[in-house]
Amino acid sequence: MEKELLFSDLGVSEEILRAVEDMGYTHPSPIQAQTIPMLLEGKDVIGQAQTGTGKTAAFAIPIIDQVDVTLYKPQALILCPTRELAVQVEGEIVKLSKFKKGLSSTCIYGGDSMDRQIRDLKKGVQVVVGTPGRIMDHMDRGTLKLDHVGIIVLDEADEMLDMGFREDIESILSDCPEERQTVFFSATMPKPILDLTKKYQNDPEIVKVLKKELTVENISQVYYEVKPSLKLELMSRLMNLNQFNLSVVFCNTKRITDEVTEELMARGIQAEALHGDLSQAQRSKVMGKFRKGHVSVLVATDVAARGIDVNDVEAVFNYDLPLDEENYVHRIGRTGRAGKSGTAISFVTGRRDMQKLKDLERFIKTNINRMDPPSVADLV
Ligand code: ADP
Ligand code: MG
Repeated sequence: MEKELLFSDLGVSEEILRAVEDMGYTHPSPIQAQTIPMLLEGKDVIGQAQTGTGKTAAFAIPIIDQVDVTLYKPQALILCPTRELAVQVEGEIVKLSKFKKGLSSTCIYGGDSMDRQIRDLKKGVQVVVGTPGRIMDHMDRGTLKLDHVGIIVLDEADEMLDMGFREDIESILSDCPEERQTVFFSATMPKPILDLTKKYQNDPEIVKVLKKELTVENISQVYYEVKPSLKLELMSRLMNLNQFNLSVVFCNTKRITDEVTEELMARGIQAEALHGDLSQAQRSKVMGKFRKGHVSVLVATDVAARGIDVNDVEAVFNYDLPLDEENYVHRIGRTGRAGKSGTAISFVTGRRDMQKLKDLERFIKTNINRMDPPSVADLV
């Protein structure tokens, strides 16, 4: 391993050093160590790293250090794909700017009171985090002016494009002053993103944190062979036996997600479903309950769970094996975050699943250990 960098090696302010210490961050993550100095120098950056690698602070720290607190105008704009992520990002900014007096930020997204947002914007906030649609809305009404924006960040850029925000993003980018920093953070860099970076960035530095560094070494990965009809029974037993604090169960369809949720509830386990049919407000409500621990199990589809950042998820269940290998990595990355340990439990039903499991092992270059069902031989 190379020499371990400290936050104090990155050229950040005293206020930031105090804040990260307060938050319990002892060392910058690899993506932070590489991109923070570049961003502080004013460069355009493309940062690619998997979910859970600390991309938020990678852009939030340089933004906070660059904001002029005597100017009451939006100076930094951060675009996020969903309301939850926008709220999380703004929350992180609030924490990181705790010791920078006079810095103000706000979060604007669809489905929330326009009046509240307009009031906040009028107060002269300096950092604006939001979803592209609502930001456009405010630009159109003239309640958000971008002429002092010196840095714009597209967070989870791949997801924003997947969600169809391309046009909005391009309008927003075109409306920002020419003299500005443009920053892309994403877990993947498909061609449409690279096209955008060519069009809107100026000689960007590209930082990729490669898979290897990201593999989730603190996650123990296991599987159980089980009859399809007994999957639920096995899963609820494992939950009861292990008493995981929070766990996420992945299913491949919305229908199964709903069924599994109901069955878990019927067995006395507090579960909620999260899938694409829920409105933004419903999703937020579910996520809020989960984050606070009012429900201990979130049953989700891949799309619904992408990018969700909840610490303390102790276990991930692959109720259905994922349809592709990338999704497996995304899924198990919901646990073992921020250096904590986690367990990923997969269920294998039949030969095709077993083949899939072998493919997964090859892809992640790690063995997934076979486990025997607890106590009851009749589950197999
Ligand atoms: P990403 O955007 O890459 O998915 P996040 O920025 O959401 O990742 O960070 C993932 C988790 O890691 C968050 O809970 C965050 O508080 C934590 N974290 C970020 N940076 C550090 C650090 N340097 N040390 C410890 N934990 C960190
Ligand atoms: Mg992120």
